[in-house]
Amino acid sequence: MFGTGILKGMGVVLRHLLGSYADDIRYLGRKYYSPDPKQLLARQGPKGKGAMTVMYPDEKMPVPEEFRFTPFLVYEEKGAEKDYRCTSCGICAKVCPPQCIWIERTNDPKTGRPVPQPREFHIDIDICMNCGFCAEFCPFDAIKMDHNYEMASYDRTVKHIMNKEALGKPLSYYASIRPRNFQREEAARAEEEAKKAAKAAAAAAKPAAKKAAPAKKAAPAKKAAAKPAVKAAPKKAAPAKKAAPAKKAAPAKKAAPAKKAAAKPAVKKAPAKPAVAKKAAPAKKPAAKKAPAKK
Ligand code: SF4
Ligand code: SF4
Repeated sequence: MFGTGILKGMGVVLRHLLGSYADDIRYLGRKYYSPDPKQLLARQGPKGKGAMTVMYPDEKMPVPEEFRFTPFLVYEEKGAEKDYRCTSCGICAKVCPPQCIWIERTNDPKTGRPVPQPREFHIDIDICMNCGFCAEFCPFDAIKMDHNYEMASYDRTVKHIMNKEALGKPLSYYASIRPRNFQREEAARAEEEAKKAAKAAAAAAKPAAKKAAPAKKAAPAKKAAAKPAVKAAPKKAAPAKKAAPAKKAAPAKKAAPAKKAAAKPAVKKAPAKPAVAKKAAPAKKPAAKKAPAKK
């Protein structure tokens, strides 16, 4: 029926209006359920009743941990010095979609070689689209996304092109705005450093083991030298035993047949001489046949 939708909508608004007053009466004198600023979120959450306005800038809604605005550079405090984690590798500038990061690398004044530190680092926060790619791709956890969204100014040409000094914030600040992220990253960093230390210790132990190895090998060499000495004793005895049978006329027995062989041809030569004498005898017979011719 025409007009029922409007009546339903009006009913919802009325319920919220009365609920708001009911909650205000319930917590009379207090705007929120408790002085805890997080109660502001609870009051505005799905379980909150009625309409409630945050009186910004006197009141501020707390932002969730993963909220991101513009990037900032993390540095570690070493006394009065700011030790920036950034190595000016340029990955963040490369991945930045609107190309709003400019980095100047430091050079050694003596050699002219690059030093892994940024001499200058600029971000134009008016161009930055708060995507967080720079923080996501940085391999050194050197750039992080800030929670600070109050950056309005009347001088956008200078104040909104932030330099290294303006972008730098201490590690303790990062730990305060992103405690869970910070803990997770520090645990991963500690694990990585422990792995590197174990690797270095293993690498240092290798040469020591190599030095110890020849010493161990030398010890068996002495044993080996001693072993032949033990074996040498039976070796000396063994040839002595073998030499004894050699002397026992084994060659002498062989020499005896050699003499026999020498005697055998001498026996054979003797019958050869009479064979020649027998053949000469018939040669005298024709001389006897000549005698009858004289008759
Ligand atoms: S902030 Fe990170 S990614 Fe960017 S230049 Fe520095 S080290 Fe490289
Ligand atoms: S948040 Fe995105 S747009 Fe802004 S500087 Fe980083 S990469 Fe560039």
